[in-house]
Amino acid sequence: MTQTAILELQQVTHVYVHSKGAFTAVENIDLQVAPGEFLALVGPSGCGKTTVLNLLAGLFLPTVGAVLLEGEKVAGPSPKVGYMLQQDYLFPWRTIQNNTLLGLEIQKTLQSNSIDKAVKLLDELGLPGTAQRYSYELSGGMRQRAALARTLVTEPQVLLLDEPFSALDFHIKLQLEELVKSTLRRLGKTAVLVTHDLQEAAAMCDRIIVLQPGPGRIHSEIVVPDAMRQVSPQMARSMPQFLEVLEQLTAALQSIDTEGGGGVE
Ligand code: ADP
Ligand code: MG
Repeated sequence: MTQTAILELQQVTHVYVHSKGAFTAVENIDLQVAPGEFLALVGPSGCGKTTVLNLLAGLFLPTVGAVLLEGEKVAGPSPKVGYMLQQDYLFPWRTIQNNTLLGLEIQKTLQSNSIDKAVKLLDELGLPGTAQRYSYELSGGMRQRAALARTLVTEPQVLLLDEPFSALDFHIKLQLEELVKSTLRRLGKTAVLVTHDLQEAAAMCDRIIVLQPGPGRIHSEIVVPDAMRQVSPQMARSMPQFLEVLEQLTAALQSIDTEGGGGVE
């Protein structure tokens, strides 16, 4: 029901207007995310995944429809919502600690215990002893951990993750999947993860929304079996239900290809 959703899109259409005209990126999207839920958005490149995240983040307002956060219409970015991208955007001239503190600085909520909080978070995310180091001294996986620390330090209720692991080596990506799922579950966060990796969506999330392009719409929704949600991504990957979810996802994406390949609109 509407009132229990922490995030909601109501009949959202978004049109980008540029010098050469207008482009409808997403159309008629209705979506509800429950508190504590881990939602994945998948779909072919250009189907509007990042647009949906940007709308949820309040970076711009929908052309039609409404975005609600805790039942209130979103009018701009909120400290309750954290955003993590594929690129880490750590500032090379700042130490990892000072990168981590950036969100608190921007929010003007730095306090005497903020440094302790940042260092503790870095420890918990597997980055002990890095507080005084610089991002260029760290590996890609470590930098994404630092970016996660920076996102979590402001204690957002909701995390929006746009392909945060896609630039990483496979085993580092698996480690980060574990870390993000367990950390966000422990902290009771709600998350929306955009990924082009179907296995990642199945291993990490409670529910997967498949978007189709032209313009971006919801094609289908796959609910991940309870047993997989309760366990770590690695464990989930080894369960028989995992293959079933992957088969459903693959079938959904293939049907989009077929529809798109027809060339008739
Ligand atoms: P995805 O993240 O699924 O790849 P996006 O949300 O980035 O898709 O983009 C959806 C569609 O909107 C694409 O066709 C893209 O080219 C277009 N688009 C995205 N941002 C803009 C923009 N600022 N101006 C015009 N078109 C845009
Ligand atoms: Mg994108």
